[in-house]
Amino acid sequence: MRADLHVHSSASDGTDPPAEVMHRAAQAGLDVVALTDHDTVAGHAEARAAAGTLMRPTLLPGMELSCRLAGRSLHMLAYLFDPDQPELAAELARIRDDRVLRARAMVDRLAGLGVAVTWEQVAEIAGSAVVGRPHIARAMTASGAIAAPREAFTRDWIADGGRAYVGRYALDPVRAIGLVKAARGVTVLAHPRAGRDTYVPDEQIARLAAVGLAGVEVHHPDQSDTERARLLALVHDLALVATGGSDDHGSLTGHRLGAETTPADAYEALVSRARPGGSAGLGQDCPS
Ligand SMILES: [Zn+2]
Ligand SMILES: [Zn+2]
Repeated sequence: MRADLHVHSSASDGTDPPAEVMHRAAQAGLDVVALTDHDTVAGHAEARAAAGTLMRPTLLPGMELSCRLAGRSLHMLAYLFDPDQPELAAELARIRDDRVLRARAMVDRLAGLGVAVTWEQVAEIAGSAVVGRPHIARAMTASGAIAAPREAFTRDWIADGGRAYVGRYALDPVRAIGLVKAARGVTVLAHPRAGRDTYVPDEQIARLAAVGLAGVEVHHPDQSDTERARLLALVHDLALVATGGSDDHGSLTGHRLGAETTPADAYEALVSRARPGGSAGLGQDCPS
């Protein structure tokens, strides 16, 4: 059985629409694919409809939550939760609204620094895309404050920690685990050893396990064999589930669906943590 439990679509920062992701997953010979867009379930309906027309793969509905722990960014995969659970839905709305509030706050700070940019200009540049720093940088360039957008990404302006920088709202991972649990789902710590910026030490993983974390993503393209071996030992000690996923973002990462997978027993164990006594739903349209 081949299960890729970490995949993005154009509902967040992937390049392919959810239906196309499902078709590519079928071509890649996957039995299960989890759609895990950043902080949104907006792609689920389209992916589910596409899955209904295919013999396989089974769609495992998921999401990748942006969290922060001790000042560092951390990603939490969530599966099989009820997205309409009020507390979780409110938190997701807050994360989405924050993207706009944050951009507006940076525009205000720039105005305070004498840069002639307005929110209307930035919004127009962003169009239908989720507004972000690149759009602000283009507005700054148009105003003549800087010569090129990349000049905005310095300490003088909107680089991390810059004079006009405003941080993103991110969930505390303990709260994320609790919210997903309350919505009858399970959480898996995403790529904890993918790089220096995302390194989550053993003690912190143990602390998250103590509050209900179900698994750790061990098999990820950016994690070395050495780190995988260390994580496997830790996962074993903490009685967690070791998962794997390609973190495919379409052409952005080079199409790599199925490049990393989760073993069948691990997949079954993960699903049974969300649905005690239930089956993993293999062969059905959707385990939810
Ligand atoms: Zn991630
Ligand atoms: Zn991801």
